[in-house]
Amino acid sequence: MRLVETFLGPVDSDRLGATLIHEHIFVRNPELEINLPDAEWDPTQAVETAVAGLADLYERGIRTVVDLTVPGLGRDVGLVAGVAERVPVNLIAATGWYTPNVLPSYFRFHGPGRMIDRADPLIEMFIRDIRDGISGGKVRAGMLKVVTDEEGLTEDVSYVMSAAAIAHQETGVTITTHSHAASRNGLEQQAFLLERGVAAERIIVGHSGDSEDLCYLRQLMDNGSTIGMDRFGMEHVLSDERRVRTVAELAGLGYADRMVLSHDAAFYSYVTPPAWRATSAPRWRMDTIPKRVIPMLDDAGVSSDLIDQMMVANPRRLLEGTS
Ligand SMILES: [Zn+2]
Repeated sequence: MRLVETFLGPVDSDRLGATLIHEHIFVRNPELEINLPDAEWDPTQAVETAVAGLADLYERGIRTVVDLTVPGLGRDVGLVAGVAERVPVNLIAATGWYTPNVLPSYFRFHGPGRMIDRADPLIEMFIRDIRDGISGGKVRAGMLKVVTDEEGLTEDVSYVMSAAAIAHQETGVTITTHSHAASRNGLEQQAFLLERGVAAERIIVGHSGDSEDLCYLRQLMDNGSTIGMDRFGMEHVLSDERRVRTVAELAGLGYADRMVLSHDAAFYSYVTPPAWRATSAPRWRMDTIPKRVIPMLDDAGVSSDLIDQMMVANPRRLLEGTS
C-alpha cells in the first residue's frame, strides 16, 4: 500500500482511480482582484460551480483531480479545501512556482548571501509544502510544478527549476512541467532536471499534447519521461481530433505507458474568465475527456486497457512517492 497526499489527507493509491493529472480549480490573481476586479469572480459562486462540476465528473467515472495551481497562479488551498470537503473526487494540491520569466522582486532580496540573508525561500517553501503542509495548514502537496515557455531558461526560471529539483531529491515527489511544445523545449527541461539528479521517470513534460511532432514526443518518452497530453478541449490551440490522432498513433507504437490525459482547464480563471471560455473555448472543461475524448480514442482503435493505462495506472505510478 502506498499513500498519496490529498486535500483531505493521505489516501491509498489504489483509490485514486481515473485521474485528471493537470487541472486547475481556480486560477486567480489576488493583487489584480483588489485593484482591477473581475465582475465574474465571486468566491461563493465559484465554490458552488466547482462542487457541482466535480460531482458531475464523479458520475462520469473520474475519481481524482490534481490541482496544479501553484503560487504565481493565485493558489489558495483554504478555498479549495472547502470544495474538497464537499465532493467525492480526491483533490491533490501542488507546490512550485508559475512564472515563464521573472519572479517577484522579493526573491532578489531574500536568500543565502542576499540582502536579507536567510535560508533559500523557494526550497524552504517547496519542502515544507510537501512535508508539513501548505501555509501552516494540513494540506500537503503531492506534485511539483515548474514552467518554461518561449522565454526559455531565464535566470529566475532556472532558479525555480533548481529549487524544484532539490525538493524532489528530498521528497521524491514527481515534477510536472509547463512546456512550450512548439519550440520543443521539453527536451531542455528534461536535460536541466536530469543534470540536477531528477530521474526522467519522475518528470511529466506537460502540454506536450500541443505538439504533433512524433519524433519530438517519442524522444521525450524514450528518454524515460511521461508526456502530458493535457490540453484536451483547448481547441483554440489545437483541435481535439488532432490531439486524439497523436495519442492514438503513439499508443499504437507502444507508448501508452508514458502518456497522461488531462485538460489544463479551470472552474474559474482570472486570465480566461468563464464568459470568454463559454463563447471562445466551450469544450475547455474537465468533462471533455469522459464525454468526448474517450469515445474518440475508442473510435480511433485505442483499447480500453490502454485508456485505463493512461487514465489510471500512469497517474497512480507518478503520484506514488518514492521516498
Ligand atoms: Zn496548467
